[in-house]
Amino acid sequence: MSFDPPNRSGRRVPIGWTLTLWGTAVTLAISLLLCGALYVGVSISLRDQVDAFLVGEVYEFLGATHHHTGSEVQLEGDIRQELGSRLRNDLGFRILDLHGKLIITSDANDMVAAHWRPPRHDPQPGSRPFFETIVPPDGTVAYRLCTLRERLPDGRDCFAQASYSLEWTAASLGEFRRICAVVLALAVLLALAAGRFLAWRSLVPLRQLAATAQGIGAAKLNQRMPVAGVGDEFDRLAVTLNEMLAKIERYVRQLKQFTADASHELRTPLSALRGAAEVALSRPRSSDELRQVLEEQLSHYERLQRIAEDLLLLARLDAGENVLIRERVDLNQAVSDVVDLFRPLAEDRRLQLEFDPVAPVTIEGDNGRIKQLLSNLVDNAVKFTPGPGRVVVGLIRHDGVAEMTIADTGIGINGDHLPRVFDRFYRVDDSRSSKDRGAGLGLSICRSIAEAHGGRIAIESRPLHGTTVRVTLPVRLAPG
Ligand code: ATP
Ligand code: MG
Repeated sequence: MSFDPPNRSGRRVPIGWTLTLWGTAVTLAISLLLCGALYVGVSISLRDQVDAFLVGEVYEFLGATHHHTGSEVQLEGDIRQELGSRLRNDLGFRILDLHGKLIITSDANDMVAAHWRPPRHDPQPGSRPFFETIVPPDGTVAYRLCTLRERLPDGRDCFAQASYSLEWTAASLGEFRRICAVVLALAVLLALAAGRFLAWRSLVPLRQLAATAQGIGAAKLNQRMPVAGVGDEFDRLAVTLNEMLAKIERYVRQLKQFTADASHELRTPLSALRGAAEVALSRPRSSDELRQVLEEQLSHYERLQRIAEDLLLLARLDAGENVLIRERVDLNQAVSDVVDLFRPLAEDRRLQLEFDPVAPVTIEGDNGRIKQLLSNLVDNAVKFTPGPGRVVVGLIRHDGVAEMTIADTGIGINGDHLPRVFDRFYRVDDSRSSKDRGAGLGLSICRSIAEAHGGRIAIESRPLHGTTVRVTLPVRLAPG
């Protein structure tokens, strides 16, 4: 079992590893940032300490030169004596003229003086000391240098310098870098281990969902995913899956019901046909008798054919197949045709069938299917209205839709049955004789046709008072 999002190359990176690697990358970035900031802070602090030390030393050195009046060679000797223990390998002093020529130095092999150039700007005597870092071209030990513009007791202007080798500072910073590297390596290892554990831990609910989902088969569609109730993403996923399962369960139930109803509906005429055939063949019959049997069977064949056609149409509409022809439909004409078709039957049953067109209504749709829808509705109205009674067909256009109403004064439908009359094979009264009993597919076909046009169908009814079916169709079909 894996929950693997595809990466850019199309291969999947396990989500556990994705989370771990992201966590590690973030930890590494933060650690790098902290170590870098710490490193910069420490090097600045060390440099400031060295600078402060050098300022003290250079003034100390100048103090030693001020009260001397002898020759430069004497001065050098005296200074050596005076500074005594202060002179170390890493600390040097020198005096240079304004062109950078060495006058006095504490170091016979003065590397710093060899590489130092006087500044372009000319600092005034007594101005603030300035600092430089001198890196010899061979890249060996760098020196920090503090320079002061001063006037010697003999009146000459000069630069007095104190320099300090940065070997120790570099060694300290090197050590610090090594410690940072170890800390970073440890941080990465810990982040990997912690990330792996946390990823594993946080995906536990997902694994539980997957395990439950695996256990749900066609026979166990009533099972549901566990919802922890904490309202997190996993809960939302579980709730969404449960809603989906509920829909699937409903669809499967409807499908089973539909299959059972369809077989039942087909079995009745088939048994009747078979029974009639068996009786006819049970003894020799005259051609008149056989003709009579065949005539009786014809209504069963018609019923079978109608059911097959209805089911085929429903299946095609269900599958979203484009079964509609796009054409201009003159609704007044369509309603008039259907009403004319049913007028003889209505008169037979002592029903007034009325249609008073108010204004012409033309829409885009499938003329044949719309007539089929109207026929089913007028057929129901006529079928379920005992004479004397009225069936009124209305047609208006408002707010970009065409609205057709088929209202009768018939037996009506009880509120318990009303929500189910659009279900396939649903009939309120199943006890009617098989001859005038419909298959219970008419209204479901009406709904499918209305919806295929982007419209809606609704039914209102009062038992013993009558029923009104309202169909609204958009004037224009949706493109596609
Ligand atoms: P079919 O239309 O397939 O020949 P049917 O007319 O029985 O069969 P539907 O048109 O789907 O099926 O109607 C479903 C049920 O709704 C009907 O059996 C009937 O009980 C009820 N019904 C529909 N229209 C009316 C109406 N105008 N008045 C009273 N009951 C109705
Ligand atoms: Mg019907």
